[in-house]
Amino acid sequence: MKKIGLIGGMSWESSALYYRLINERVRDRLGGLHSARCVMGSVDFAEVERMQTAGEWAAAGGLLAEEARSLEAAGAEAIVLCTNTMHKVASDIESAVGVPLLHLVDVTGEAVNDAGLSKVVLLGTRFTMEEQFYRERMEANGVQTVVPDAGGRATVDRVIYEELVLGIVSDESRREFQRIIEGLITAGAEGVILGCTEIELLVGESDVTVPVFASTALHAAAAVDFALAEGHPV
Ligand code: GLU
Repeated sequence: MKKIGLIGGMSWESSALYYRLINERVRDRLGGLHSARCVMGSVDFAEVERMQTAGEWAAAGGLLAEEARSLEAAGAEAIVLCTNTMHKVASDIESAVGVPLLHLVDVTGEAVNDAGLSKVVLLGTRFTMEEQFYRERMEANGVQTVVPDAGGRATVDRVIYEELVLGIVSDESRREFQRIIEGLITAGAEGVILGCTEIELLVGESDVTVPVFASTALHAAAAVDFALAEGHPV
């Protein structure tokens, strides 16, 4: 089993979910007392959020590249960046280390393809929904994304930063998300990407009428499949 290197803390609420899901999948695949070989570097989210809001993406990329180098030095054989938004600086991480970055957008796009869908709702932070980096990488994977209107995007972004990253999960916000998703389904979307690693703490398969692509669950599963890939003895 290979060792997974997780860059977490963005937020720690979703990092905890990654840790649980990764260990559950290793247990399910190997049985017995097996658990994941992994190491996590966890940043201070306040510092990262300040850089995001100030547009200091190069500094943020440098911070995460340093975390990735530490993980590699600790024996990590792949890097898992536990946030959608910070994949905006994925190339800074990739160029800092010699081990692969398991890119969340590619993993999620592949799942949409496997489901036979091509046009899906994308929910995430304002950076993820409004900037090019996520949409273009999805398009490179053959997936077209649609995002809520300005009011809907503001709601989703506010719920992420003011509630979910603080562990606040409210029925009212779940209803708001359902309303936003269903509106886009009516307009032709075939599924929904939960493109922020905390959204699956709020919304799941049973809350909407189309297939759900939960980025944390998909990314965690891909990390385990990498760690247990053929040719590497347990
Ligand atoms: N975890 C979130 C994401 O997946 C938001 C936190 C962040 O800005 O990194 O995008």
